[in-house]
Amino acid sequence: MTSLPVLPLSTGAPPRRPARPPRHLADLDLAGRQALVAELGEPAFRAKQLSTHYFGRLVRDPAQMTDLPAAARERLAASLMPTLLTAVREMACDDGATRKALWRLHDGALVESVLMGYQDRVTVCISSQAGCGMACPFCATGQAGLTRNLSTAEIVDQAVYLAGVAASGVVTGAPPRLSHVVFMGMGEPLANYARVIEAIRRLCAPSPEGLGLSQRHITVSTVGLVPAMRRLAEEELSVTLALSLHAPDDELRDELVPVNQRWKVSEVLDAAWDYAARTGRRVSIEYAMIRDVNDQPWRADLLGRLLAGRLAHVNLIPLNPTPGSRWDASPKPVEREFVRRLRAAGVSTTVRDTRGREIDGACGQLAASETGSADGR
Ligand code: SAH
Repeated sequence: MTSLPVLPLSTGAPPRRPARPPRHLADLDLAGRQALVAELGEPAFRAKQLSTHYFGRLVRDPAQMTDLPAAARERLAASLMPTLLTAVREMACDDGATRKALWRLHDGALVESVLMGYQDRVTVCISSQAGCGMACPFCATGQAGLTRNLSTAEIVDQAVYLAGVAASGVVTGAPPRLSHVVFMGMGEPLANYARVIEAIRRLCAPSPEGLGLSQRHITVSTVGLVPAMRRLAEEELSVTLALSLHAPDDELRDELVPVNQRWKVSEVLDAAWDYAARTGRRVSIEYAMIRDVNDQPWRADLLGRLLAGRLAHVNLIPLNPTPGSRWDASPKPVEREFVRRLRAAGVSTTVRDTRGREIDGACGQLAASETGSADGR
């Protein structure tokens, strides 16, 4: 007689679904905030007062909101400005010009953001998802898989929080005002499309509805989700699109950016050129230089032929090797030759500076090291 497998007894409890991130004023436009404030039995103008504290003054401590009646402050702040991000680690490097933050979200998920100061601008690199489902083998975030999408407010709050850090004047040699946002932290922004678009609207709405940044100073970086790229082109936003190409041929790109198995180099570039035509904005082509993998002269020439005459700029990124990876950055002479060939083809090309190396500044490595240490690895 064969024994039947023993089935676990049902406890009768419904499967547990993770709680949603707390609702926050940055999830809503000003009208939505006013409606919420009214529901709480407060006059609608309190929405504007709270928004001015959060987006205009970068204040989130209710004690500092002295224009609100003391009795209402805590209650309003708790309802409209719950804590979304708790700093687990904050680090500075590059003599204080780069600062990196690792955040824990309400459900324990970890995400990271980087603040970079330059002579003429301050850029924050933010995450759109906890983890990432795109599985690019050279990227630390890609190795860990997707945990979840971030809410609009969880995305916006990274920028607002770090705008506050910049305003305190601690970013060496840079203006005290956040000016640029790049979606190049953890996650694939176009896989969390609706929340990312809402976040862009909040970042660019004039204060106090939003942070008042210029759309032209926002960069959305994608692995190349073609339908979402086409949808983005229809939004009438003038944000910069960055395409993580990393290889000019399908054979290699299928491996480096696995979503290429679905949308090929030619399709993804077509979508990029349509974006450029619609918006008049130059598309940024991201290319991580990986030693002996994608850095051959023939690949530079092929890339040059694909991009020549297009509204494109190539951003070469020296590979930041992830722990345990078999890949390394290209040697400088190889990189220089790659640049030379692209420029000879008439393609505008620069090499990205490598900020934040000594604080695991790139690509999910801080969160990876935190998880690793938590596991005792
Ligand atoms: N998912 C989006 C945005 C996040 S990553 C995208 O892929 O575009 C931002 C950029 O950093 C992408 O171009 C990505 O390919 C690149 N990147 C990831 N890991 C890297 C590494 N270890 N070294 C150099 N660049 C890396």
